Amino acid sequence: MPKGSTKFDSTFLGCGSLQGEDMNDSFKFKLPGYVSECIGKIEGAGFQAWVVGGSIRDLLLGLCPLDYDIATDALPHQIMSIFPSTLPIGIKHGTVSVRVSENYLEVTTFRSEGKYFDNRRPSEVEFLSEIEDDLARRDFTINAMAYSPTRGFKDPFFGEKDLEKGIVRTVGDPQERFGEDALRILRAFRFASVLNFGIDEDTSKAALDMGSTLANISVERIRDELVKLLGGAKPSVIGPLVETGALAFLGIKGGTDLRVLDKVENEPYTRLAVLLFLCGGEKVAMRKLKLSNKNAREVAGILDVLMGSLPKSKFDTKKRLQSKSLYTLESGVNARSVLLGEDVSEPLWWIKEIVENKEPYKISMLNVKGGDLLARGLSGKDVGRALEKLLDLVLERPELNNKEDLLRLLEELEM
Ligand code: ATP
Ligand code: MG
Repeated sequence: MPKGSTKFDSTFLGCGSLQGEDMNDSFKFKLPGYVSECIGKIEGAGFQAWVVGGSIRDLLLGLCPLDYDIATDALPHQIMSIFPSTLPIGIKHGTVSVRVSENYLEVTTFRSEGKYFDNRRPSEVEFLSEIEDDLARRDFTINAMAYSPTRGFKDPFFGEKDLEKGIVRTVGDPQERFGEDALRILRAFRFASVLNFGIDEDTSKAALDMGSTLANISVERIRDELVKLLGGAKPSVIGPLVETGALAFLGIKGGTDLRVLDKVENEPYTRLAVLLFLCGGEKVAMRKLKLSNKNAREVAGILDVLMGSLPKSKFDTKKRLQSKSLYTLESGVNARSVLLGEDVSEPLWWIKEIVENKEPYKISMLNVKGGDLLARGLSGKDVGRALEKLLDLVLERPELNNKEDLLRLLEELEM
């Protein structure tokens, strides 16, 4: 099931489903109250309002969308005058965020995307008055459907059929559409991975032929799509794109079989580490992808385990936990088992015991603090050194991690 959306239960959540051909649209596209309220307000002011894009796709798949996007013929300033609380988040591109009953919804004026430069997003947009024209600028047929409670279901590019067939297909000529915005190339693979879909033959051919144009796209947009792709049901779909050298500008290349990626736990940064391990590029990609410090630490930590070795003892496990989180170490160990077929039951057992027994492995976990040592006459650097030595003792014998024993051991330390 695609990550990020919750599984459909018609009786409970009221999301739609592909089964039930004869269901009427209002049941198929049962919308949360605040979404209907938003649409009602826009329609009440004399404009059209449609739910569009990913939310319609998810409803048809029987998944509950994480958010609902609204498309309208009202101009941004008109939307801002309908709702008392709005944020002009993407007003240049026609998007206003409106608050309805404590929820925020993005309302975007029907638009085309103006001219494209260097396979990138347009710098200007043109506002339009017909929903069909807005749907035509969207990337894939499965993302180019709209529903309005009063106006019905619009599916000019047969996205519902492609959803049934499990196919990602561009709206219109794939070469033209990828030429307009090369990010769509990666998005095609992202949706194929997340939804476990195939890619239409012409779409796939154009994507692979034009893969090198991805290098013109900002790394932030690439990174966000890549992370979503890796968190999908079938991240190995990226294999052919890697093989063509489309991601070589990130240092990710080679003809390695990536099927093993699908077996790695579904955590995008673990899978990113595995992808970099399999396809090289760890240095270039880590620098270029501009990961947050936290995510970069996690990827580097997992790569470190993958390129190094398994913890050899419980003591060694604790030593490693001084520089990486429990989560990172465990993910790295699990990834070794999947990739290298190693028996990881012992290291996992040590990690489990350390957690369950709350065994200390860092100075901050010691039951004496710097202040206790200062109070006993130690000063400056000696405090740090004494804490290190106490930790070394406690790593081997966690039962000594109580104030009384630690202070006694302190007396015995040669400082
Ligand atoms: P998700 O559930 O991951 O948010 P989504 O389909 O909502 O998936 P978004 O990236 O949020 O994807 O985009 C919202 C909609 O905007 C898409 O469904 C698609 O119709 C359109 N869209 C987004 N990016 C592009 C693009 N690069 N080119 C054309 N249309 C796009
Ligand atoms: Mg979305």
